[in-house]
Amino acid sequence: MATSTVRVKVPVSVDASRCIASKGCTVCVDVCPLDVLVIDKVKGVALMQYDECWYCTPCEVDCPTDAVSVEIPYLIK
Ligand code: SF4
Ligand code: SF4
Repeated sequence: MATSTVRVKVPVSVDASRCIASKGCTVCVDVCPLDVLVIDKVKGVALMQYDECWYCTPCEVDCPTDAVSVEIPYLIK
């Protein structure tokens, strides 16, 4: 039987090529009121660890390199 990988889309994505977590940045992690963002220490990038979000956007606004994108669902725009 063929196996397939289902990629779950999370509301917050981080552009790894822009993220400077490997240089010590933790801004998005620090500002998130839900603590859903973490730094992947192996890859040196921030990522969403739980698919839960208030769409409050400080992670996107405060990121010094514009690496964070918050995708606000159409229904709550
Ligand atoms: S604030 Fe931006 S640069 Fe800093 S860790 Fe988060 S995504 Fe990376
Ligand atoms: S939008 Fe708000 S709740 Fe969602 S990850 Fe960013 S700071 Fe956290």
